[in-house]
Amino acid sequence: MKTLSQRPRALCAFTTTAAILALFLAFPTLGTAGAHVYPVRLPSRTGLPAVAPTGAHLSYYGGRVVSNARVVAVLWGSGSYLPQLTGAGTPNIPSFYAGVLQSPYVDWLAEYNTAGRLSIGGTTTNQVIGRGSYLGQYTIIPAAANNGATISDAQIQAELASQLTAGHLPPPSRDASGNANTYYAVFFPHGKTITLGADTSCVLSSTGFCAYHGTLPHSLGEVYYGVHPDMQAGSGCANICGGSSSVFSNQTSVASHELIETITDPEVGIASSFAPPLGWYDSANNAEIGDLCNAQESTVIGGDGLTYVVQQQFSNSNNACIVAAPAAANSASDAPLPLWTYAALALAMLGMARSRFAQRSRDDAGAAFRH
Ligand SMILES: [Zn+2]
Repeated sequence: MKTLSQRPRALCAFTTTAAILALFLAFPTLGTAGAHVYPVRLPSRTGLPAVAPTGAHLSYYGGRVVSNARVVAVLWGSGSYLPQLTGAGTPNIPSFYAGVLQSPYVDWLAEYNTAGRLSIGGTTTNQVIGRGSYLGQYTIIPAAANNGATISDAQIQAELASQLTAGHLPPPSRDASGNANTYYAVFFPHGKTITLGADTSCVLSSTGFCAYHGTLPHSLGEVYYGVHPDMQAGSGCANICGGSSSVFSNQTSVASHELIETITDPEVGIASSFAPPLGWYDSANNAEIGDLCNAQESTVIGGDGLTYVVQQQFSNSNNACIVAAPAAANSASDAPLPLWTYAALALAMLGMARSRFAQRSRDDAGAAFRH
């Protein structure tokens, strides 16, 4: 099981030569059950530098991506939930998913399109990543056998499978080429401990996690799911996941990590080696797109105009952790044509009016445009 907190220890344990030999002789294996965790990690507590690891780079291993994510929020039975999960007022978790899926936060992920690209193994799923949508929230009634104080990933998978078969959750939808594109973001009430192999939710240790995402094969289609333990005050996650004093902001940060990792590596839960169906992955750092920027936060303005705290994600193109493509203006100085185009466009728009209003303030010029 990979966690960032384990990595420095592993690097200390091996000499550079041994590490290189290990890379060539035997690929490391993926994590427990293949699911991928968001390790407990808060920069202010750990002193981790707010940059991606040196040499960070995602490679395409031939698995699917999610073309246009459709998010279903799942509440795990009764209990105490974050108010923004059960309340109607925005911003809330539904508006977060709907908002960020219609924002620049998703647009730059086009650099991870698989269309026109061959994986390391020479295959492709030929997909294009674009904006997504939020389908709605469903509260399931878990079977008692799957709903103790401690809930394992196997129990979560069994319950999701049962709920899907019973028709209590919408089935996985597919893109035009038949690839699954529904993401089930599961949220748990206060007091539940989640286990994934040897890892445990909301404990500050090398085997602790804030959330994870996984893959469930089902007769209705591949099920991509995310597991979000409660983060309210009094939970183990309250002070160790996310960097804000706002539980809601910490929850959206963690949820954004899993959402984007699902979009770029949805089949990780059924991958067992660095080959299909693994998607975009950094084998040297044993990390997905969010892990390379773990706990580095920023904000995005959603399509709803509201601002959400999200985690940065790693961009190969920019070799940096980002939440949106850098502004085009940053590169305008080395491109004369765009300047001429801009000037021509401005002249065409302003015409004779520009000379008449040239001495006026911007507000006045704006008013002139309305005529
Ligand atoms: Zn992750």
